[in-house]
Amino acid sequence: MWKKQKIIWVIPIICVILILAGLYIYKQNQVEEMTYSTFLEKVEAGQIEEVVIDGSSKMKVKVKGDLDTSYITDNPRNPELKEFLLKKNIKVEETDSITTTNIFQGLIMLGIFFIAFRYASKKITPQNSGSSMNLNIKELEFNKIQHFSFSDVAGNEEAKEQVEDIIDFLKNPEKYVKYGARMPKGIIFYGPPGTGKTLMAKAISGEAKVPFFSVSGSDFVQMYVGVGASRVRELFEKARKAGKAVIFIDEIDALGKKRANNPTGGNDERDQTLNALLTEMSGFKENEGIIVIAATNRLDILDEALLRPGRFDRHVEIGLPDVNGREHILKLHVKNKPISDQVDLKKLAKQTVYFSGAMLENLLNEAAIISAKRNGKFIDWNDIDKAFYAVVAGSEKKNRDAILKIEREITAYHEAGHALITKLVAPNNTVSRVTIIPSTKGAGGFSMNIPPDKMYYTKKEMEAQIKINLAGRVAEELIFGEDNITTGASNDIEKATKIIRDYIIKYGMSKKVGLLNMDVLFNNKSQGFVEKTLIEECSKSIKRLYDETKETMIENKFYLNQIAEILLLKESINEDDLNDIMERNFIIEEKNVNKSHFQKAMRIKPVVETV
Ligand code: ADP
Ligand code: ZN
Repeated sequence: MWKKQKIIWVIPIICVILILAGLYIYKQNQVEEMTYSTFLEKVEAGQIEEVVIDGSSKMKVKVKGDLDTSYITDNPRNPELKEFLLKKNIKVEETDSITTTNIFQGLIMLGIFFIAFRYASKKITPQNSGSSMNLNIKELEFNKIQHFSFSDVAGNEEAKEQVEDIIDFLKNPEKYVKYGARMPKGIIFYGPPGTGKTLMAKAISGEAKVPFFSVSGSDFVQMYVGVGASRVRELFEKARKAGKAVIFIDEIDALGKKRANNPTGGNDERDQTLNALLTEMSGFKENEGIIVIAATNRLDILDEALLRPGRFDRHVEIGLPDVNGREHILKLHVKNKPISDQVDLKKLAKQTVYFSGAMLENLLNEAAIISAKRNGKFIDWNDIDKAFYAVVAGSEKKNRDAILKIEREITAYHEAGHALITKLVAPNNTVSRVTIIPSTKGAGGFSMNIPPDKMYYTKKEMEAQIKINLAGRVAEELIFGEDNITTGASNDIEKATKIIRDYIIKYGMSKKVGLLNMDVLFNNKSQGFVEKTLIEECSKSIKRLYDETKETMIENKFYLNQIAEILLLKESINEDDLNDIMERNFIIEEKNVNKSHFQKAMRIKPVVETV
C-alpha cells in the first residue's frame, strides 16, 4: 500500500521537472524550422547573417534583423556549402556538435533520466528482483533457437547453396583450419522485408546446432553515447562464452548506413556503435566458429567499411519468391491446416505475384481464421479469396447500407475503368478480382491487377501500367464530368507518379532527359532548374498517357458500361466474368446514365479511396 502511494507521488514530480526543464530549454533558444529552399532563397536575397554548421543533420541559421530567433534547416552536408556562403559574405561558423548549452542540456536530461530510471526500476517493478542491474542485457533479448532447419525455408535455393559451407564450417571449424581456408566472419542477407532472412539465419544456426543471438540495428538508435558500443561488446562476449554461435543483426542499415560527406568528421553514437561492431569482428579469429549474419532491405545504402574483406564480405540475396517458390511456401504453410482438396495452390501461387513469404503466410493464416469463424470443415477457396482481399486491401466492410447510391456508381465506373484498360493495353496481366465492396481500410473498391512475373519491363509495359493506374480517374471524368472527379484516385496517382519518375530519371526512357540518371548527376542535391524540367517532363508524359487512355476508353465505352453495370449487380467479378464481358458472351441491358442526376446527387463528402 505504502509503495503504491509513493509511486503516485513520484510520477507527477518527475513530470513537473520534465516540463520545467523543457520550458527552460525552449526559452534558452527560440528555435524555428526553415525549409532548405527558403534558406537558399534568403541566401540569394542577402538576408542571412550567420550559419552555424556542425556534424549533425541540421544547421543553425541567423537571419538579419531577427537575431533573437535561431532557425534550423537541413544540413545538406555539402563540403562546398561553406565556400558558397562565404562568397556571399555570410558568416560561417563550424563547430563540433557539442556546445556548452548542449552539454548543459544534456546534463539536465541525464540527471532527470537517471532519477526517473532509478524510480522506475526500483519502485515500479520490484518483482523483477535483480533485473534492474542487468537492464542492458535484458533489453537485447537474446533468443536461443534450436530445432530450426532448412526444411522450414521454402524456395530460396540459390541462397541456401550459398550458405551450405557455412553450416559445415560451424559444425566443424577445425576441418577448415586444416585446409588453411579462411571462412567469412560476416554474411549479409539482403532483400525485401518478409522474404525469410531471419528465418534463414535461424535455419543456419539450427542446422549447425549452435546457439543463436539476435539483436536489431534499430534498437541501437537513440541510445546514449557509449551504450550502443557496450551492448555490442556484451553481445559478442555472450557469443564467445557459448563457444560457437550465430550472431544475427537485423536491420543493419540502422547502424551502418553510408556516412554522408561530413566535413566535421561526424562522431555520433551510431558511428561509435558501428566501430565497436567492426572492432569486435576483427577481434575474433576466423576459425573460432562464430559467424555474424546481418540483414538489410538494401545493400547499396550500407557503408563500404562494413562490406570490406574480413567483415561482411559475403553477400547473399534473398529476393521475392517466384511462382514455384510461392507454391513451395504455400505448401509449407498449409501443412498444419485443414485445407480443402479443391484449393489449387498452384493457381494461388500464380495470383500472388510480388507477395513475400511473410505475406503468403499471413494470407493462409487469415484464411484459416475466416474458416474457423464460420466453423467450416475445411479451408476452402472462398475463405482464401476473402483472405486475399483482406491482405491486399483490408477486410470487407460489413455494413454497406450507408454507402450512397452515387458512390457505388462512381466506384463501379472507376474500377471498371481500371479493369477495361488492363484488358485492352496489358492483355498479359491478370485481373484476378474487381470489386466495389469497400474495405475497412478505406478503399471504396478494388481492382487487382497483376503484371506477369518478369525480369525486365519494356517501355510499353511501363506506359501500360501507368495507363491502368490513370484509368479509374479517366472513367470518372468520362461518365460524370470533369467537375465531378473524386478523391478516389489519389492512390492511383501516387503509383502513376512513381512509375513515370523511374521511367524518366532511372531508366532513361524519356527522349527529352535522355540516358541520364538524375540522382547520380546531381547527387541528390536540390537544383531548382532541374526539378522544374523534371516536373514539366513528368506532367507532360502523364498528360499524354491520360489522353491516350481516354481515347481508348471512349472507343470502348460499350465495355466500360457493361463492366460497371455487372459490378453494380454482382459487387465482385473475377477474371472469367471479365473475359466473358469482353468476348460479348452476354450483354447487360444498359441503364440510362443521366449525368445531371449525378451532378445533383454529388456532395463534397465522397472519399472513395480506391485502389
Ligand atoms: P525477413 O527477415 O526477411 O523480414 P522473416 O524471416 O522474418 O523475413 O519472415 C517472416 C515469416 O514469413 C517467417 O517467419 C515465415 O513464416 C514466412 N516466410 C518468409 N519467407 C519464407 C520462406 N522462404 N519459406 C517459408 N516461410 C517463409
Ligand atoms: Zn483506382
